Amino acid sequence: MTVARRTSARPVGVAVALLVVCLATTERIWAEDQMTPLLLAVHDRPIPFRGSDGRTHLVYELWITNFSSGDATVEQVRVLGGATALATLDAAAVASRLQPAGRRDASPTLPGGGTSLLFIHLTLAANTTPPARLSHEVKAQIAAAPPGQQQMTLSGGEVAVDRRAVVVIGPPLRGDRFVAADSCCDATRHTRAALPVDGRVRIAQRFAVDWEQMDDANRIYVGPREQLRSYRIYGAEALAVADARVASVLDGLPEQTPGKFPEAISLAQADGNAVVLDLGNGRYALYAHLQPGSLRVRAGDRVRRGQVLGLVGNTGNSVAPHLHFHVMDGPSALDANGLPYEIDAFTVTGHTPGTAAFDAAEEQGTPLAITPVNPPAAVKHALPLDQTIVRFAP
Ligand SMILES: [Zn+2]
Repeated sequence: MTVARRTSARPVGVAVALLVVCLATTERIWAEDQMTPLLLAVHDRPIPFRGSDGRTHLVYELWITNFSSGDATVEQVRVLGGATALATLDAAAVASRLQPAGRRDASPTLPGGGTSLLFIHLTLAANTTPPARLSHEVKAQIAAAPPGQQQMTLSGGEVAVDRRAVVVIGPPLRGDRFVAADSCCDATRHTRAALPVDGRVRIAQRFAVDWEQMDDANRIYVGPREQLRSYRIYGAEALAVADARVASVLDGLPEQTPGKFPEAISLAQADGNAVVLDLGNGRYALYAHLQPGSLRVRAGDRVRRGQVLGLVGNTGNSVAPHLHFHVMDGPSALDANGLPYEIDAFTVTGHTPGTAAFDAAEEQGTPLAITPVNPPAAVKHALPLDQTIVRFAP
């Protein structure tokens, strides 16, 4: 008995010791690991570029997945570059920039199991070196968390900033009083045009501009709204922005009637008559909505900078004559991601009051109440930002 008791005493001691170690380990795991019901990710690395305001801009999307069974409401998002806070999006900013996957309306609340994209636009002071990496801190209310623990701060979405050189190009048009409509970075029609294509989400139009033109009285059109020739920009020459190879040409689609939303336009016809230029180094330039029969190049042609490609029209998914122009990382207007670019020289002559005022002027033919830039500002190597009025060299 005595012997037996003594011999059994050792294993018990070891077992107790093991249990203590076990408890210590699990306590350590529980103390260090955290439930992160919001999963954060950035899929497309932001590429810094210079805007026509002289400042450095980064435009990208933070993907947020609500991996819980209840609602998650995002209240604040901080963007960090290392330990430095670069920007704070408050509740109102989040509410206007967070869009459920596949939808064009914004909401700060993700349902359980939902995924949303937060469209981020960072502006850095002129001549600031962008940080090497970005990360994010998200404050949110998680309804499925235990009472008293529903307010959470989650970190993630780490991404390296893409330091590749931005392509520098010439102007796509020549002349004066052009308006960069729906351009970068807070206009929503292009910047947020996220589409699921061939198994991936793409934003080919991320940095697109719808170029319009005003007459001397700041009107987009004069005369009957539904007539193409009423529009100042109709028939303007679309120019090759660089020496390039013509990757593809689409022609033969009819003009739409201005002022009416086109009906029965397939996705393949959305750009209307179009030209894609291969600029080299994985960059492609798209010119869309050109006049039928106006295209002067064919696929495979070599073009020189400034060469006329075709005339501005109103074909495809277009409600008024304009030139849609953007740069992307592939030859397909759908299966590509938009890339920023810089135009080597242009002059900023003014600004419109904003998208709503521009839309009204385009709908009614009324003059835009522009704010002139006096004297006009010569800009080098920059992307014309939204609602900037621009003169290109004649
Ligand atoms: Zn467009």
